[in-house]
Amino acid sequence: MQRPSTVRKERDVNSNLRHANHTVYVGAGSNMANRLDNLRKAVELLNRLPRTSVKKTSAVYLSEPLGFSSQGWFYNAVFELRSALKPETFLVHCKRIECLMGRPADHMKWGPRIIDLDILLYDDSTCSQEHLTIPHPELSNRKFVLLPLLDLANPTHPLLGKTMRELLETCPDTSSIERTGHTLLTIS
Ligand code: AMP
Repeated sequence: MQRPSTVRKERDVNSNLRHANHTVYVGAGSNMANRLDNLRKAVELLNRLPRTSVKKTSAVYLSEPLGFSSQGWFYNAVFELRSALKPETFLVHCKRIECLMGRPADHMKWGPRIIDLDILLYDDSTCSQEHLTIPHPELSNRKFVLLPLLDLANPTHPLLGKTMRELLETCPDTSSIERTGHTLLTIS
């Protein structure tokens, strides 16, 4: 894997990737405009975050929209990152990237979106705050999260005590999903 030469991280003197020791899984989805470009842009922007690097990206999956059905199908993927950021700070950056990519702050729940970034897992940490729940509360209910995550690893859910593969076996999601031949820009 190669880091694109155009990508330059801005790091202050205190930033050091040696301390970027948290393993973070981020779920991404897009069903507007050029969905593949949107996922690739999200990888690039996440990789530019301070003390953070994207290590691996899953295959791209085509999935049926849940909830509001008269909208386009999604491209979904999961990214594995190393980061020294705290989960709360990481969430702020995810929201900023969504905004930067053109997603309105007052977006419709379940509606179409240019990009959606969800923190799925943060090491084996758990967090239950008003604006941040880790692991992501819908993780075990969504095939479009479990399938791409399993391309990268098979971690154990820190609250449910089951691996991602075990969760997929009992996942109640019956919606359609297929693996595409598309790959995302890979960075190391
Ligand atoms: P969404 O509609 O998926 O963009 O999520 C809406 C809200 O979910 C965000 O504004 C977050 O504050 C909240 N949220 C709670 N837990 C998480 C998480 N693990 N990852 C991303 N967003 C989260």
